[in-house]
Order: sequence, then structure tokens, then C-alpha cells
Amino acid sequence: MTREKGARNRERQQVLKTLLEERHREIQTKLRTLRETLPAEVAEVKDAEEQSVNDFVRDVELALIEMTSATLGQIDEAMRRLEEGTYGLCANCGAEIAEARLTAVPFASLCRACQEAQESLQAQQREARPFAGLLATEGAEIRRTR
Ligand SMILES: [Zn+2]
Repeated sequence: MTREKGARNRERQQVLKTLLEERHREIQTKLRTLRETLPAEVAEVKDAEEQSVNDFVRDVELALIEMTSATLGQIDEAMRRLEEGTYGLCANCGAEIAEARLTAVPFASLCRACQEAQESLQAQQREARPFAGLLATEGAEIRRTR
């Protein structure tokens, strides 16, 4: 690695680190807001319909919290890779992930090609086995009776 390239890499890493930290803060704020807006347990439920609306809102917000928490985990992971010096390299093929991709998804761990390959594989698996989730829990049972 030439000295010039090393300097460029350090500069790039600094930019990426800032990006990750910004995204991290953004998500933490969002998470806090979500937690604050979660409906408190209703002391006096008027009817079943109201209860089901409450449950629905709660479910949606809990799902959102779960999603944002997962993203936070991915960002922490990306920060760790940044420290290690493996950030920006595809975890699958080792190729350098395009800068535009990292700008859009700073915590991406796969290059576009690998990500697309993985997604189409997952889509195929979903199509081939629409009840995969169901089978996974009953797999042992099915194998025994076969
Ligand atoms: Zn790759």
C-alpha cells in the first residue's frame, strides 16, 4: 500500500466513522421517541374494539423498536469492523464495498453482488418452502413419522 493510498484510506474511514456515529445517534433518538410514545397500560378499557386498537398500536411500535434495535446492533458491528480495519470489505467475498453503497447503508457488511445473491437465495427458499417456519418447528416430528 502506498503512503498516499494509506492517507486516503484513513480519510475515508474518518468519513465513514462520522457517518456511522450520526446514524447511531439518529436511531437512538428515534428509539427513545418510540419508547416514550408507547401507549401506557390502559387502566380502564371501555370495549373490546378499543382494546384491539391499543394492542395493534403497541404491536406496531414494539416491532419498530425491535427493527431499530437490530439496526443499532448492525451499526455497532460496523464500528467494530472499522476499528479492526475490515470495514468496507465484503464479509463474503472480501471485495471493497462501493462508496455509494456505504453512504446509503453505512452498516452494510456485504457488497451489492453478494447482498443480491443472498436476497435472491432467500427469496427462492421462501418460494420453495412457504411453510419453512412451520416445518422447522415440526421437522423432528415429520422425520420421525416418515
Ligand atoms: Zn461480496
